[in-house]
Amino acid sequence: PRRPVLHAGIESFNMGGKIPLGLKRKGLRIVVTGGAGFVGSHLVDRLIARGDSVIVVDNFFTGNKDNVMHHFGNPRFELIRHDVVEPLLLEVDQIYHLACPASPVHYKYNPIKTIKTNVVGTLNMLGLAKRIGARFLLTSTSEVYGDPLQHPQVETYWGNVNPIGVRSCYDEGKRTAETLTMDYHRGAGVEVRIARIFNTYGPRMCIDDGRVVSNFVAQALRKEPLTVYGDGNQTRSFQYVSDLVEGLIRLMEGEHVGPFNLGNPGEFTMLELAKVVQETIDSEAKIEFRANTEDDPHKRKPDITKAKELLGWKPKVSLRKGLPMMVSDFRQRIFGDQKLKES
Ligand code: NAD
Ligand code: UDP
Ligand code: UDP
Repeated sequence: PRRPVLHAGIESFNMGGKIPLGLKRKGLRIVVTGGAGFVGSHLVDRLIARGDSVIVVDNFFTGNKDNVMHHFGNPRFELIRHDVVEPLLLEVDQIYHLACPASPVHYKYNPIKTIKTNVVGTLNMLGLAKRIGARFLLTSTSEVYGDPLQHPQVETYWGNVNPIGVRSCYDEGKRTAETLTMDYHRGAGVEVRIARIFNTYGPRMCIDDGRVVSNFVAQALRKEPLTVYGDGNQTRSFQYVSDLVEGLIRLMEGEHVGPFNLGNPGEFTMLELAKVVQETIDSEAKIEFRANTEDDPHKRKPDITKAKELLGWKPKVSLRKGLPMMVSDFRQRIFGDQKLKES
């Protein structure tokens, strides 16, 4: 049963995530799991800026305190070191569930932990949402489409996924997380939202996380060759992080469960991406071909008609506009650190 949960000092009732008129923007209590990571920390910035109270739950596997340190000392911000595979007791209005490594290098590092995080972690956060009547948002992924046989990908497409491959801990994990989310919605009346996120980039990405945009940018800045895997003709669609955060918030606040594709439909081959990086950072940067990884999807591009129509959302930042903003952050972190070491 839903019951109001009052917290001393915070003026808000638990209304199953619904924001009653008059209380809007005042004291919503929000958990962001994975909030010390790349996407999570940008989301936390937006929620804090609009006046909400935010609890970040993170085990710091790929996240970092540096990403949220600027909120330390703010009474509306709390940081809890916790692994979502373990149960968690809290009272909040909304749960943004992001906890899960996103880079293939990170999620393949300990695949059993990855699938536990996706399945047991999501189960725990849904159990929490059910107990306290909070609205729950799952950050799923375009990887649920696998190596897609439909292009671009529409939400109604069921995907082409290898259940026993090296990426399965992540993509089958997220598929199960979606299933759990829908079953808690249908079976337990939990208010849920599902986002299927396409490749996202921006400031605060881990510098050496092995994803293509972070690799190319760091390589160009360090005057190393850009490593193109395979023949470089595989495609991805790259979304700037502020567009994603806007989409996640609209989804959480809107009336629709989803799933919704959130991504930028601008599609690039890896060779085209390398060219944009050369134009942005160093026209002399060389390209080096490497063997591709197993089960690498050949192409990926979101159909965002549904998000446009039902959430009134579309991305605003093109790759050519977004990349320079990421480059200045990377430049500062790579060369700032180096200067520190030298001194
Ligand atoms: P990230 O690796 O930067 O952030 C993930 C965060 O979750 C980190 O802070 C990490 O420490 C934390 N975490 C991991 N396992 C945990 C656990 N068991 N308990 C508690 N915390 C844990 O990744 P990101 O790019 O910010 O991705 C955030 C979410 O968005 C993920 O769920 C990811 O699957 C999804 N997503 C991201 C992209 C993308 O391109 N960035 C694309 C599709 C989906
Ligand atoms: N759970 C949690 N916090 C809560 C409520 C539940 O972490 O506030 C966990 C709980 O430990 C369980 C999972 O969520 O493992 C699913 O909870 P649910 O109540 O749906 O199932 P049950 O406990 O009945 O198996
Ligand atoms: N890739 C590449 N060079 C790199 C890293 C990745 O060419 O240094 C390719 C990779 O093979 C894949 C694409 O870039 O085809 C996107 O990979 P990423 O790991 O960024 O994300 P994915 O979409 O595979 O989850």
